[in-house]
Amino acid sequence: MIYLDSAATTAVRREVLEAMWPYMTAEFGNPSSHHSLGEAAAQALKEARATIAQILGCRASEIIFTSGGTEADNLAIKGIALAAPRGRHIVTSAIEHEAVLESCDYLHRHHGFEITYLPVDRHGLISLDQATAAIRPDTTLCSIMLANNEVGAIQPIRELAEIAHAAGVPLHTDAVQAAGALDLNIGKLGVDALSLSGHKFGAPKGTGLLYLRGRLTIEPVLHGGGQERGRRSGTESVAGAVALAKALQLAEASRPESAQRLSQLRDDFIAAVLTAVPTAILTGDPIQRLPGSASFCFPGTSGEAVLLYLEQHEIICSSGSACAAGADRPSHVLLAMGLAPEVAQTAVRFTLSEGTTAEELNKVARTIRDAIQALTRRA
Ligand code: PLP
Repeated sequence: MIYLDSAATTAVRREVLEAMWPYMTAEFGNPSSHHSLGEAAAQALKEARATIAQILGCRASEIIFTSGGTEADNLAIKGIALAAPRGRHIVTSAIEHEAVLESCDYLHRHHGFEITYLPVDRHGLISLDQATAAIRPDTTLCSIMLANNEVGAIQPIRELAEIAHAAGVPLHTDAVQAAGALDLNIGKLGVDALSLSGHKFGAPKGTGLLYLRGRLTIEPVLHGGGQERGRRSGTESVAGAVALAKALQLAEASRPESAQRLSQLRDDFIAAVLTAVPTAILTGDPIQRLPGSASFCFPGTSGEAVLLYLEQHEIICSSGSACAAGADRPSHVLLAMGLAPEVAQTAVRFTLSEGTTAEELNKVARTIRDAIQALTRRA
């Protein structure tokens, strides 16, 4: 099997499993307990937090462990907006993940927030001028993703942070797709909040975090025993936090080399697909894109049919239009980029990982050519 869907999820790395194992077995304590088993768990949690803080270049107290990217996004958006609203206005983009879009929609429906959705150009990039114009005196939060999950487009977050801060507005970024691919140093990004999800880079599903700048107050989404300094109640998953720290450490250690290798493989693959299928359309910015991300539309076919054909040939990838509920609506990201619905419906996304080889990608490009020939003949 050739797995080209690492933007959907990754396998847990062996070193990660080994690091977390003791905290699911012998060292199973509750980090809030005051006996030795609890203290050992609390110590492991503390070390995991410190490791992550060191990688992100922030304080350990600024890390809030969550159950993943969705929860981190919900906590950032609802938490910041409801804590100390300057006003009831949020700026986000039309191509965010549903975790961001639905959190904003919740604030709109239940708390009367007005949401401005920044448009994107045909490559999936926001405009800094439009962002500047969208920020108002009553804007409470700006939330723009670092890299898009469907087309891999990377937004100019550093510049956006400067614009938001000049207006006194905090900036949250969903960096779920960026771990292991882009520099997540908070100082360099300049963001006030950042979401990560462990299962995108070798930790188990159900692990994640929100970085939240120290001076920002937040209204919790989960209320209870006051864990995570009262910002996220619920007994922490110690094993999950240890796994997250280990996976981030490994991803970060191999990042420069891996990003360079994957960018080269990606560019060769994109060129091979565009040659093999002259009607194919590359979606997402050709340059400002994640190293391992190659996404296309194949007009005249259906994304689902291409996926099925590829899967029958042992190639696993995903349809850019797949939404959480599995409906075959065209992707909101591709529509926002100006693609016609019937073209957006033909999207297929390939996401490479550290193990991907040039031989595999050559085979995939050939199989895509065969798929498109077979499917257009059939149509
Ligand atoms: N944000 C982005 C950009 C994603 O790609 C995803 C998952 O696909 C999420 C958020 C949600 O993360 P999780 O699966 O950990 O809830």
